[in-house]
Amino acid sequence: MSIQLSRFASAYPPIPIPRQSFYTYLVEQDTFDSNHPFTINGQTGNIVTRGQLKERALRLAYGLRNAHKVGLEPLGRGSTAIVVSPATDFYAVMMLGLGAAGIVCALANPAYTAPELAHAITVSRASHVLAHASALPLVRATLASLGRTPEDIRRTVVLVSPEAETPPEDAAGWATLDTLVYDPVPGLPERFDGAAADATAFVYFSSGTTGLSKGVELSHANVGANLAQMRAVHAYFQTNRDVTVTGIPLFHVLGGQTLILFSLLRGVAVVLLPRVVPAEYLACIARYRVSVIITVPPILLMLTNSPLVEQHDLSSVRVLSVGAAPVSPEMMLACERRFARRGWRVSVAQGYGMTELTAVATYMPMESIAARPTSIGWQLPNSEIRITDDEGNDLPVGEAGELWFRSPSVMKGYANNPKATAETITPDGWLKSGDVALVDKDGYISITDRKKELIKYKAFQVAPAELEDVINAHPDVADCAVIGVYAKEQATELPKAYVVPKDARLLSGGDPRALIEGIHSFVAPRVAHFKYLRGGITLTAEIPKSASGKILKRKLRELESAQQAPV
Ligand code: AMP
Repeated sequence: MSIQLSRFASAYPPIPIPRQSFYTYLVEQDTFDSNHPFTINGQTGNIVTRGQLKERALRLAYGLRNAHKVGLEPLGRGSTAIVVSPATDFYAVMMLGLGAAGIVCALANPAYTAPELAHAITVSRASHVLAHASALPLVRATLASLGRTPEDIRRTVVLVSPEAETPPEDAAGWATLDTLVYDPVPGLPERFDGAAADATAFVYFSSGTTGLSKGVELSHANVGANLAQMRAVHAYFQTNRDVTVTGIPLFHVLGGQTLILFSLLRGVAVVLLPRVVPAEYLACIARYRVSVIITVPPILLMLTNSPLVEQHDLSSVRVLSVGAAPVSPEMMLACERRFARRGWRVSVAQGYGMTELTAVATYMPMESIAARPTSIGWQLPNSEIRITDDEGNDLPVGEAGELWFRSPSVMKGYANNPKATAETITPDGWLKSGDVALVDKDGYISITDRKKELIKYKAFQVAPAELEDVINAHPDVADCAVIGVYAKEQATELPKAYVVPKDARLLSGGDPRALIEGIHSFVAPRVAHFKYLRGGITLTAEIPKSASGKILKRKLRELESAQQAPV
């Protein structure tokens, strides 16, 4: 009997893949209804229609190309600007406007510390910053730390403060997005047809399978491909009728690519919230009759357990798609049951994606969910998968190994980092996901583990190597290792550190509290809040390492589960 190997073409029929600017692809769709609301601000009720978005994006493109008129350094096709902003009415305008101008759009987390933002600016080689008013102090400090003079900073920063309640004290004198957008002349979008579609459109940040955060370069062709792939399988969307809600970061692909760009493609209205505050989030679902929710596990947990759900009418929700981190099938079913008890029919499905695959990589056909609750479904059309052993050989069906993808949505590469790119994408185009999965004979994929050094706190990526560098710089630390521990009650992994103290007496009767508190306070100002050691710190005599000095994280994870196992 021959063994069936885990190497599969997509079970979905192939589709045509657009090779053009993502901007023109989106706004030239037959279904593009200019009068339909695109974003609805969940806090202010302000509506931006799709027509207004298109017009403002073109005006912004014109304004940016003529930036010298407002005293800015010129920038145009091929330049890079980095957006540092929470989710506002202008976020989509910035993404689309930069795309229409042919300017690469890098998207940074506004919660970064100055060194983290400096790293993002350096990696993406951004010349300009579009800074929300709340991020202006951070942006100025960061650019100063990179050696830019106050005059340079004034000439490369655009202030974005459309709905800031109190403009920053020093708002005067900055070029603002409003002046650029309200320039009366809408420009013509840059074209990226054919081979030109391989030009970079976006840079998102991801640590990939190892090391520090890197800039993931996505081309116009990548973005168009992933949008077309998603459209081919997301049959449940009803064009110009559905409504979705954000609350997850727009600088992450799940927010930027899926919630913003894919909603624009499918004619879905987006209720914008900068973050999820349960009462506000639930009230928005009820008020705007949200029908499709695409979100992350901790929010599914809230929808499953929070008593606040009882106070709202969520009957409009038909589909709840959850991903960006491991999801518990029990929780998916519990959420469905909770909704059903109120007479609401909702299908809860799991999504799987990755920044390096532009956004979404697999999709579960609705009709198969009940039979395979743990599966992430099939890879999207025009893409192939392999399950491989450590040497890159195909494994038999049913055996777990590293999941590889080949797809038109595989990133161009890591910005200015050919070494990391070559370690992640094979010469024949396979992207190594760093996730461990198995596939059944019908091609359904299930994620079983993670091989790469990534911790996901909610949807946020935490790179252990970065935290280890910070902790090792503490004067009383001899060595350390950081792993992710799963907190069921929060439906997320938490970063946890194992630390070898310089003072060995702390391991044999000494009081470790001062050192542990000292490490927490040492880490706090040096990293963004989502990287804090919420999983705790354990002191240990040594960090298990291989003969070559590599930290054996698996050993630490085993230790961790042994400690948590019931006795
Ligand atoms: P990001 O690039 O931030 O979207 O992170 C991608 C990683 O998130 C994947 O490589 C997985 O490790 C994890 N991930 C995303 N979706 C899922 C899922 N449904 N189940 C398990 N892990 C997931």
